[in-house]
Amino acid sequence: MRAPSTRNPDEKVHCASCRAYICLYAEALEMLENTPRSEDEKLMEDAVNRDK
Ligand SMILES: [Zn+2]
Repeated sequence: MRAPSTRNPDEKVHCASCRAYICLYAEALEMLENTPRSEDEKLMEDAVNRDK
């Protein structure tokens, strides 16, 4: 997944490879907080944190 560079919670998150719409950035962050860790989530968290 690909985090929006704007950090706007209303921004849409898209798949990094095929650009398919996944969910809103706010929902993605919520997902990370509320679900047990899996490889996918770790990958996404890395993507979210990368541009800091
Ligand atoms: Zn994809």
